[in-house]
Amino acid sequence: MKNHFLPQSFVDCGETFYIIDDAAHLADLPHSARKDMTGNLVKESLRKKIVFCQEHEGFFCAVREFIMGGDRFFWCPTLFYRPDREPAVRVSIENARCTACGRQVLAANPALPHLYEFLPNMYDLAEEKERLPAVGCPCCGGKLSRHAIWAE
Ligand SMILES: [Zn+2]
Repeated sequence: MKNHFLPQSFVDCGETFYIIDDAAHLADLPHSARKDMTGNLVKESLRKKIVFCQEHEGFFCAVREFIMGGDRFFWCPTLFYRPDREPAVRVSIENARCTACGRQVLAANPALPHLYEFLPNMYDLAEEKERLPAVGCPCCGGKLSRHAIWAE
């Protein structure tokens, strides 16, 4: 059943991403004439992100071509979260703690420089994301120890 996968692309901060929901589709993505050097570690990271997206509403995974120099590249996976009626934003899932009730939660943080690490203004882009409205503790609504636009 080949050719049933139609890659959907979009541009975020000048970088072209392809939405992907199955690591097997990497081979079907359009790319430059360079050689695909995507290794097993990256593929495993992609698979984990895809599983997270399957289990959590509002998230999706996308990859972009990262040029390694010479004639080689690898697919770099990024997790995105799309808040209600807002554009999708790159996020990293991390632990956070409620400063009121002490509960430990999983949180999606959009304000981390590593999410933009291949862009010259990575720190500015990350700081900009701190202005996105933060969610509180899913248990008591208290303030979380990390900036998060999603938590559970
Ligand atoms: Zn709490």
